[in-house]
Amino acid sequence: MSNQGKIIVAIDGHSSCGKSTMAKWLARQVGYIYVDTGAMYRTITLFAMRNGLITSDAKIDQDGLKEALDKAEISFTLDPDTNLPLACLNGEVVEKEIRGMEVSSLVSPIAALPFVREKLTVQQKAMGEKKGIVMDGRDIGTAVFPQAELKVFVTASAEVRARRRFLELQEKGEQNLDFDEILKNVQERDYIDSHREMNPLRQADDARVLDNSDLTIDEQNQLLLKMFNETIQNSEELIVESGEVSNL
Ligand code: C5P
Repeated sequence: MSNQGKIIVAIDGHSSCGKSTMAKWLARQVGYIYVDTGAMYRTITLFAMRNGLITSDAKIDQDGLKEALDKAEISFTLDPDTNLPLACLNGEVVEKEIRGMEVSSLVSPIAALPFVREKLTVQQKAMGEKKGIVMDGRDIGTAVFPQAELKVFVTASAEVRARRRFLELQEKGEQNLDFDEILKNVQERDYIDSHREMNPLRQADDARVLDNSDLTIDEQNQLLLKMFNETIQNSEELIVESGEVSNL
């Protein structure tokens, strides 16, 4: 398939700020591939848990994980009903397992390990070779695709994000939810994600900020689509100006 006229959309931001909702929507709207890199870090975390390489108080057997990592194959398969990607660990769909509180509370220390980031970054870069991709995460505009044509940094207050996460987990039928615990998890992940040594969460210099604290889902989606259309238009104007016939 030709990549002519296609761009890379990199969406970064804090935990539970609605990145994936808008990224998924945009990808479907414009016919691009959607990649949720958080799901990839979550799947590695599940792998570590299943192999006894991380304890519930986040003690990681780093040597063991490093050695075993080759045996963790992360992929996506399309849900035949929704056409949305589902995360797989060695071919097994693990979407449900990776979304619970246990993985959420252990994923950031795992994602801070340089050898884990290296493995997943290589895989993510390869996914974007043909462009036509919307990828969301923490380091997409800074480390995975610093050349992305459109970079969006999404944010909202920690309370708003914890409330959204609470409702999302409630909808999925999780029992005994504690709002304060979820808020603490959101704040802890923010801290670890922005203070880790390798590729910490930060806004790329050329990213556009989208604060959705007071926006409805529809409003945020429309704003993102507007940014996308502007980027496409600017890229096309650049090509016409330079007389280039190029694969954007
Ligand atoms: O996006 P989501 O909340 O599912 O991501 C789970 C965790 O994975 C984040 O809290 C972060 O620690 C890590 N992550 C990362 N880099 C990415 C995507 C996610 O470090 N590109």
